[in-house]
Amino acid sequence: MRVLRVALEVPVAKLFDYLCDVSLPAEAGDRVVVPFGARERVGVVVESAEESEVSSSRLKPVTRVLEGAPRLPADWLEQMRFLAAYYQRPLGETIAGALPPRLRSLKPLPRRRKTAEARPDGAPERFVPGPAPNAAQQQAIERIGAALGSFRAFVLHGVTGSGKTEVYLRLIAEVLARRQQALVLVPEIGLTPQLETRFRQAFPQASIAVMHSALEDSARTQAWLDAARGDAQIVLGTRLAVLAPLAKLGLAVVDEEHDASFKQQEGLRYSARDAAIQRAKLAGCPVVLGSATPSLETWHNARTGRYELLSLPERAVPGARLPEVRMVDLRAESAEHGFAASAIEAMRARLSRGEQSLVFINRRGYAPVLACDACGWAAGCRRCSAHLVLHAAAERSRESRGRLRCHHCGAEEPIPRACPTCGSVDLRPHGRGTQRIEEALAGYFPAARILRIDRDSARRRGELARTLAGVGRGEGDILVGTQLLAKGHDFPKLTLVCVLNADSALLSTDYRAAERLFSTLQQVGGRSGRREQPGAVLVQTRFPGHPMYRALMQHDYAGFAAAQLAEREAAGFPPFVFEAALRAEAGKLAETMAFLKAAARLVAVPAGVHLYDPVPHVVTRRAGYERAQLVAQSRSRPALQAFLAEWSAAIPAMAPRGVRWHIDVDPIEFD
Ligand SMILES: [Zn+2]
Ligand SMILES: [Zn+2]
Repeated sequence: MRVLRVALEVPVAKLFDYLCDVSLPAEAGDRVVVPFGARERVGVVVESAEESEVSSSRLKPVTRVLEGAPRLPADWLEQMRFLAAYYQRPLGETIAGALPPRLRSLKPLPRRRKTAEARPDGAPERFVPGPAPNAAQQQAIERIGAALGSFRAFVLHGVTGSGKTEVYLRLIAEVLARRQQALVLVPEIGLTPQLETRFRQAFPQASIAVMHSALEDSARTQAWLDAARGDAQIVLGTRLAVLAPLAKLGLAVVDEEHDASFKQQEGLRYSARDAAIQRAKLAGCPVVLGSATPSLETWHNARTGRYELLSLPERAVPGARLPEVRMVDLRAESAEHGFAASAIEAMRARLSRGEQSLVFINRRGYAPVLACDACGWAAGCRRCSAHLVLHAAAERSRESRGRLRCHHCGAEEPIPRACPTCGSVDLRPHGRGTQRIEEALAGYFPAARILRIDRDSARRRGELARTLAGVGRGEGDILVGTQLLAKGHDFPKLTLVCVLNADSALLSTDYRAAERLFSTLQQVGGRSGRREQPGAVLVQTRFPGHPMYRALMQHDYAGFAAAQLAEREAAGFPPFVFEAALRAEAGKLAETMAFLKAAARLVAVPAGVHLYDPVPHVVTRRAGYERAQLVAQSRSRPALQAFLAEWSAAIPAMAPRGVRWHIDVDPIEFD
């Protein structure tokens, strides 16, 4: 009899020992069925041992070994161990969260597809390249290409439209020629089917596994198995794809590496970008972090020489220039219905030339506040400390009136006919969201085709992708949209971007707000003028002289980043320190705060680690829970990690019932 140490999906940071008959071929990486309590569970063997600390009379035997999926490789288990330790999560839960649901269950697995084997062995992979690379692209391809076969981290800093994808494709062609696999992570894939199409056009014979969370269970399992068996030559996916075991990883790419969606916000709160770097290290292959506006962490690593910096300073389409960015000073020019006269004129000029304009406003709905003019009452959510957002009735719905919706918890209410406080019927919307802007534009340009693109306009699956494809073909004269429009779309006829309401981010207390705003505006602005016609970006602002806007006008990411990094260093913020947040929520704020204060005293805080006082979140109450957090900081990552390990082991025993808590390592969102 041997002893197998099995990871199970339970919230306890330990492995469970089981006996295994010598004749049973179970090894580390196998999925096994074991008795646990009154029922059977699926677990993963992490290691086998000669003996257990538990007396063997109390150990139960493994019921059986599950087949149909390849054994999980040692480097994958190694990565899971790393993630579990780093992000302070039990290994069993970490492994379970990385497996598609089907592989955690007793359900049968889909049968192996015959894709990769159809190709005669040894035949070269067909590659259909795009336009010939320019000098900067060529240099990037050569530098990264020379590093294939060993670990090295590259930052590919390319302005919008600079042809980063072409660099990836040419490198992937080399990887496939070596009979290895490529992993490409993107922030969003459902919205950008163009990317998948481009990959399929470039590699018409290759098997490409697409992975994202919206896939049905069986499709996700199939893609995962293809990746694990090495059948999929290219794995293209969102953050969860980094958790798939690629048997022959030869290159990892993280496109738009600055994007916040690479950080998981629940369960295992991992950064897919950082996990990809770790994975490349374990596999001994290069990793490429691509962005027009790298995260300051990444930029700092490039400046200090940990990563190699490669730049694509020009747009790839010959003759295409970066758009001209101008500020529209709202102190000098008043706005009517949300628009300065010069912005309206600029759109009118585009309309007359048959070009498209995009109005960017990062706020859904009709108006962010519905308030009473008589007494000042404003509609608020009963369960959150937030205003309800007024939504106008959808065009195709049977409702004639709109609704009030909470953007934090999803609660919905009808619009009251009178003020609940004073009875006045003078309730008025304040501020503007996409719907109200759409309405204003229809007033200015009655003959124009106006398309609103946000999460409300595209609720049905596939609808958004279809709309965006239509825009790419020239449908729609004026687009109104949120962040959804910023990501990676190529609209050839779009030559003007108008940005509304950007100032609100400048007033935020979050030290990352400026970084995020700069990146969003660069990205949105980058939709403009990607072909021969020059593009323009107009930003309506009350602070036209703000350094962030000045950097934006000069397309000076490096200057902006240097200024931000200097501020962060002076203030003691990441990337100059490392952080983790202990977050908690309970029915009453007093309970939440009492828990955090007790947690702060729980273990001795070593020198070099600093715990801040607990503070409530800006939106303190959400869905009926009062939230607060406590930040731990250190200049030494190992010191912080050692403290967190001890701390997270001690908290469960003292956490009162009714308090939910978690630790977020390298947190990026504080709200
Ligand atoms: Zn009132
Ligand atoms: Zn709410």
